[in-house]
Amino acid sequence: MDITVKDNLMLIEQNIDKALQRSGRTKDKVDIIAVTKTVGIEQITEAIDAGLDKIGENRVQEFLKKYDNIDREVEYHMIGHLQSNKVKYIIDKVSLIHSLDRISLAKELDKRAKRNNLTVNVLIQVNIAEEKSKYGLKVDQVIPFIEDISQYENIRVKGLMTIAPFVEDPEEVRWVFRDLRRLGETIGNKDYKNVEMEILSMGMTNDYEVAIEEGSNMVRIGTGLFGKRNY
Ligand SMILES: *Cc1c(COP(=O)(O)O)cnc(C)c1O
Repeated sequence: MDITVKDNLMLIEQNIDKALQRSGRTKDKVDIIAVTKTVGIEQITEAIDAGLDKIGENRVQEFLKKYDNIDREVEYHMIGHLQSNKVKYIIDKVSLIHSLDRISLAKELDKRAKRNNLTVNVLIQVNIAEEKSKYGLKVDQVIPFIEDISQYENIRVKGLMTIAPFVEDPEEVRWVFRDLRRLGETIGNKDYKNVEMEILSMGMTNDYEVAIEEGSNMVRIGTGLFGKRNY
């Protein structure tokens, strides 16, 4: 018998509940972003029918191709590195951009948001583990960055995002999630304009349970829902 997206989702939801219980967060909710890179329209539709209503893509071109072919009311999240010259194509289509990591991108987002008469919701991507291969600000760059971009009227900072290093045993990256949560608390305790620290987007298929134990309220899951990707 084939395992469906719905079966996978039910298992993930149970694991999320257990992780919330283990950490005493029984009243909290965790949003699941269904990461659909390389996944076809048919499976995406299956995921939406199973109850997933937040779709995450990491490439603009792939996202736009799918966007026109999905006839359901869902939220789209841009989770991958975003080039400034692509902002104009997605600004009016995405609910949240998880990967703001530089001023030049903030400027472009603010400009395009103004032109479209909207405010754009963003997370600041932080490269907690300082991996060379990953995008994101270093921890000590984040507060100066937030102070700068709180001037941009059409950008709302909703929280932080990180990608932990890939390791066999997610316990090894628990500190990454803990550091992101603490950074979010520090920022939330200050009263920056246009900044509300509501979202911690952390945890993927391999490490979402540990991330939730450390305070995540948004997990980005691809493989766990759709199986291994074929690139
Ligand atoms: C691909 C991707 C994910 C999902 O990864 P899985 O291990 O398949 O769950 C999450 N976040 C980002 C930014 C990604 O690019």
